[in-house]
Amino acid sequence: MSDSDGKKTLGVRGSGPRSGSVKQSFSHGRTKSVVVETKRKRVVMPKPTGAKPEGGSAAPVGGDPKKRPAGITDAELERRMKALQAAKSREVEEAAAREAEEKARAAERERRRAEIEAKEREEKEREEALKAKAEEDARRLADEQAAKNAPPAPAADPAAAQAKEARGPARTTPARKETDTREADRAKPKGDTGDKRRSGKLTVSQALRGGEGGRQRSMASMKRQQERARRKAMGESQDREKVTRTVQLPEAITVSELANRMSERVAAVVKALMNNGMMVTQTQTIDQDTAELIIEEFGHKVQRVSDADVEQVIEQVQDDPKDLKPRAPIVTIMGHVDHGKTSILDAIRKARVVHGEAGGITQHIGAYQVETDGGSALTFLDTPGHAAFTSMRSRGAQVTDIVVLVVAADDAVMPQTIEAINHAKAAKVPMIVAINKIDKYEANPDKVRTDLLQHEIIVEKMSGDVQDVEVSATTGQGLPELLEAIALQSELLELKANADRPAQGAVIEAKLDVGRGPVATVLVQNGTLRQGDIFVVGEQWGKVRALENDKGARVKEAGPSVPVEVLGLNGTPEAGDVLNVVATEAQAREIAEYRQSAAKDKRAAAGAAVTLEQMMDKAKADESVAELPILVKADVQGSAEAIVQAMEKIGNEEVRVRVLHYGVGAITETDVGLAEASGAPVIGFNVRANASARQTANQKGVEIRYYSVIYDLVDDVKAAASGLLSAEVRENFIGYAEIKEVFKVSKVGNVAGCLITEGTAKRSAGVRLLRENVVIHEGTLKTLKRFKDEVASVPSGQECGMAFENYEDIRAGDVIEIFEREEVERTL
Ligand code: GDP
Repeated sequence: MSDSDGKKTLGVRGSGPRSGSVKQSFSHGRTKSVVVETKRKRVVMPKPTGAKPEGGSAAPVGGDPKKRPAGITDAELERRMKALQAAKSREVEEAAAREAEEKARAAERERRRAEIEAKEREEKEREEALKAKAEEDARRLADEQAAKNAPPAPAADPAAAQAKEARGPARTTPARKETDTREADRAKPKGDTGDKRRSGKLTVSQALRGGEGGRQRSMASMKRQQERARRKAMGESQDREKVTRTVQLPEAITVSELANRMSERVAAVVKALMNNGMMVTQTQTIDQDTAELIIEEFGHKVQRVSDADVEQVIEQVQDDPKDLKPRAPIVTIMGHVDHGKTSILDAIRKARVVHGEAGGITQHIGAYQVETDGGSALTFLDTPGHAAFTSMRSRGAQVTDIVVLVVAADDAVMPQTIEAINHAKAAKVPMIVAINKIDKYEANPDKVRTDLLQHEIIVEKMSGDVQDVEVSATTGQGLPELLEAIALQSELLELKANADRPAQGAVIEAKLDVGRGPVATVLVQNGTLRQGDIFVVGEQWGKVRALENDKGARVKEAGPSVPVEVLGLNGTPEAGDVLNVVATEAQAREIAEYRQSAAKDKRAAAGAAVTLEQMMDKAKADESVAELPILVKADVQGSAEAIVQAMEKIGNEEVRVRVLHYGVGAITETDVGLAEASGAPVIGFNVRANASARQTANQKGVEIRYYSVIYDLVDDVKAAASGLLSAEVRENFIGYAEIKEVFKVSKVGNVAGCLITEGTAKRSAGVRLLRENVVIHEGTLKTLKRFKDEVASVPSGQECGMAFENYEDIRAGDVIEIFEREEVERTL
């Protein structure tokens, strides 16, 4: 304490010689001692001039020799005290001088104001006089030249100009006046600051405001203030002239955004809300009704917009008929299982090889284009089964123009044939009947034709209007005729599109590809999709990084009816999702985000509806339907959807399966979390759980079941649903190995150099090859080696060599899953 006292005294002396506020610069430099000084100041303050130091005031500072710092003599102390007193008196004098100065300035201001007012008055008077004179002149002129019809305008014009001139400076006057009053206002706080300086703690900004530098600053800030006032005055006059704004109001809006849209100050909006009893901050979101109230309060107009309006940026323009050019039809092949759908698709593709396509064509994506002998292009979709066809339709993507209904001539119309007919009818898509396997001895195409009659399909051969073609996928017989029939049907449909507009298309298949990220096979329906285009697709968005055609070749663009694989998505869309090219990334992101939240809301609402339904069921009858909830993750969208459809069909009056969630890709912790919350098992179809998901599942007791065959899955779920689960064969994972390196060994093939990361590897066990948690291959081991020796098992942490039976495509980084089958009690 005494130390600080000493220091302070020194400080005062140091800053003493400087003019202006001694204490400020001192305190500014040494904050610690400020408080103590304040106390002292209070004692000193009441003194009128304080010219002579008094013992009373000197004592608390440093008079007490005990409290004095060592090394300071009495003489020194006295000298310091004197200096201090001198400084104080100077300060008081200065304060008085300042006051006088201020008064003088105020008087000067007053004088100036009076002057300006006088000038204003004068101008006004002059203006009025001029006006009167002009009017008089005009009247006189009019009177004099009434007969001549002389226009009085020339006389009035100078008057108007004068008036304008007079108005000019008049407009600036209020601004200047305001500045003056502001200055006067400023004088007050300055005085306050002075009081504060004397009375208490000093902030850095207060300290800076005083002193010489402070005066300079205040000149500059005065100018700024003048400028601001002028601008404000002008702005206000603009505001007054302005007609009310129309404010676009979404369903929810943050306070600051609302202020922004109204061009009002945020603080004013917050205040208005507070006046309405709402305590909000600017970042808070308020609802549409409240916002509307506020907008009206500010005198603006409200235009309510729905969130869905973000989608409006998607171009909905109708194409000019003259821009429309014929496009290839999109053909889907449907029919009963084993009637030869795949064979026909393959045969058509192969036929194209014969038609001059160099090299063999390996199917690359779920659709391809061929050309008929007559030169028309046809696009075949080969992914959608019936389920996919409907689910795509339910998402609003009507992708198919023509359905080829395949019926085997050696069989007849079967349940799935009828299903296909119904789907095609529901979608109002024309049909062509392909009577397949005509090469077979037992083929009876006419039976097929008559069978079809029962389902209101009258083929041409029966004098109907549905084309029918006899084909053989095996021999290729009738295939050119089938293609021509399709081309003819297409001509009748007059399918057209405008290639010269932003693309719109439909996803026919989407997956998460190892290395390439999410990829979607898109069928362009209108416009042209180009590399670099920004798009939204369902709940996802992206920028076309690359396009690959049905032959796997990179292309720069894809026009109407052309299927392409699109790279550059930020997530995996779903089959049937519509792709739209938009102008900016921001728009794409906004739309995708809106759709995601809307979908979430919908799911939540759907969940609630089921609960409600259940409750009502319960209320109605005392027995309720038991639900078996499951989560499904699959390698591709098609499988996921097929599983969901199959699951929905399972069930009776007592039990039904409810798919809580399904998706594409590895099973993640989120999936496990959702499953745990609902007491559901997670079904992985050709996918695996990632490490953290596996761990969480173990901890929380969530069952994860893996399948590679849909029928097995359906059977298991069926059994579980009907409570008929019995002990059956189940897989047990006994180990995981990570492939570190791949060696080529002659006669053996590719051998994986692995590290057993978990459990044990067994020579006799089953193995699966996982790439990014997706099953690539399932089979058995050809060898299991520790160094040079063939071994029966390898424990965790050791390295070994593994080679698959009949499988070579192994890569470093892949994971080998080792499993055994055992009999267990099932609990699904
Ligand atoms: P999908 O289930 O409808 O796709 O039928 P597939 O194309 O897999 O064919 C089922 C079976 O029928 C396969 O064994 C084919 O070899 C056979 N098949 C398909 N088309 C013909 C055909 O035109 N003639 C004969 N003889 N067999 C065919």
